[in-house]
Amino acid sequence: MCGIIGYTGCDKAVPILLEGLKNLEYRGYDSAGVAVQTADGIRMIKATGKVENLAAKAESTLGLYGVCGIGHTRWATHGSPSDVNAHPHMSADGRFAIVHNGIIENYLELKKDLEKKGVEFKSETDTEVIVQLLAYYYDGDVRKSLMRTVARLTGSYAVAVICADCPGVVYAARMSSPLIVGVGAGENYFASDITALIRHTKDVIDLDDGETAEISMDGVRIFNRYGRPVEKKLRHILWDIAAAEKGGYPHFMLKEIMEQPQAIKATIEPRIKNGRVELDDLDIDMSAFDRVLITACGSAYHAGCVGRLVIETLCRIPVEAEVASEFRYRNAVMSEKTLVIAISQSGETADTIAAMREAKKNGATVLAIVNVVGSTIAKLADHVIYTWAGPEIAVATTKGYVTQLVVLDLFAVWAAERLGRLGGEEYDGLIRSIKALPSKAQRALDLSGGAKELAKIYHDRSSMFFIGRNLDYAVAMEGSLKLKEISYLHSEAYAAGELKHGTIALIEPGRLVAALCCCDRLYEKTASNIQQVKARGAKVLALAPESNRAIYGEADYVIQVPDVHPLLFPAVEIIPMQLFAYCVALENGCDIDKPKNLAKSVTVE
Ligand code: GLU
Repeated sequence: MCGIIGYTGCDKAVPILLEGLKNLEYRGYDSAGVAVQTADGIRMIKATGKVENLAAKAESTLGLYGVCGIGHTRWATHGSPSDVNAHPHMSADGRFAIVHNGIIENYLELKKDLEKKGVEFKSETDTEVIVQLLAYYYDGDVRKSLMRTVARLTGSYAVAVICADCPGVVYAARMSSPLIVGVGAGENYFASDITALIRHTKDVIDLDDGETAEISMDGVRIFNRYGRPVEKKLRHILWDIAAAEKGGYPHFMLKEIMEQPQAIKATIEPRIKNGRVELDDLDIDMSAFDRVLITACGSAYHAGCVGRLVIETLCRIPVEAEVASEFRYRNAVMSEKTLVIAISQSGETADTIAAMREAKKNGATVLAIVNVVGSTIAKLADHVIYTWAGPEIAVATTKGYVTQLVVLDLFAVWAAERLGRLGGEEYDGLIRSIKALPSKAQRALDLSGGAKELAKIYHDRSSMFFIGRNLDYAVAMEGSLKLKEISYLHSEAYAAGELKHGTIALIEPGRLVAALCCCDRLYEKTASNIQQVKARGAKVLALAPESNRAIYGEADYVIQVPDVHPLLFPAVEIIPMQLFAYCVALENGCDIDKPKNLAKSVTVE
């Protein structure tokens, strides 16, 4: 869940490590640290809080002049966020320093073992056992000791290591946590992801589980799990530095909200050819499946809830959606006739990976929808459809979620046509509507001005509700989550027809209720639910299509959404809710891009 970086070259390492960490901070930000090789051995500094605290400390620390080092920004799993628990961790003899992303599940057992041998531990982390083991096994050959160390570990890790005896070399190993090599000219890197390196190089090598690697200023060597050298392909990153910068916006989240029309376009355009959906060589026989299970976490799960309704409607095949942390332990009924769709922006979500493994064990076919090329989920799946959202930096997803929706729409249309359930004018109409989504998303942005005014009025309330039916309910869940995630204002999403079965007791005078009214065939029903909450004094904000004029007689406030095909509303309807959440967070003075206690890529269980 943290960000790690390693550098070796001929420039001063600390500024490069700090800059990389700033770009990785979205992955974790409770503490940070760097370690560099110097003539006096390994020097290390750490600070609790954001990377800027570490940067301030670095400025006032003398002697951090090495050209080879490692850095870490932490999201604590074992031990509180403190200077002592922050990474890097050093072996008791000061020979090794390590940064780690992941969880060592058998650390207690290993720690006891080492303690019996007289090793003294300083921190409460699971990570420290790795570095102490490295020192314990060391006999002059770092790679050998790294191989022996990782053979003892159970759990997940991406580690970068420096050793005082090997100037200019950084070692690394990976298992179930992301790690790439950045290949430069006269300098090389390790990092959790490319955003840390894009200023320096666009050439990367993806490390696979079980591999170890070492970099020096002019060489990269990679070894398989048996320690044999392997040749790996370079991957050239296509997007450039501007995509990873704020580009004049005050926050990445706002930039990413505004980028949605473009992200939708990039996701759709290559997949619609001559009026037909074509999915990147997707070689699936839909008639082989009798059900579809969608599994994901957080917003990706909410995208799955939309996908469930769209696929079921178009394909007439039973579809379920379930959060991956439950699905993985449910012992769900699956067979080779089950298609499991796993959704994840980062492609590294630990719970989703475990759910996929469970599905594969049971003979199901796994289709992944991911944004990060070469990620663990992309590699593990039988089939992949990428969302082309570009890098998403803000922790709260916006363009990542919306592009997941459009991939699910494309997949549903593709599958329904293959199953012979969709064709003729209905098919053509849907294709036309999907193609129009980028401009409709732009229109949704243009129509969302009211969100700012409403945020000014309601930002300091104790709670609010989001209600809707069918697709509107699935989007309400995401609207509510967005608000909670970044503004810390409590909210609940409720199926509009369910409110009266208990929760309506919480509707009191002045409570803001956002009623999502894009599902036209159920509009009358939702309108009754609006009346029910109004009768209890609630203030109602309706989100309704531009064509719906009746809504002005029902709601206190209306934000219009452009008219689109009934199955495609979620991709435009979420936009005003994202902006509302953003504006409330702004009013509340929250750290919008890095909300408290969250991290973007949740690589722990
Ligand atoms: N488990 C390690 C710790 O708590 C690493 C967590 C992370 O990936 O940030 O320090």
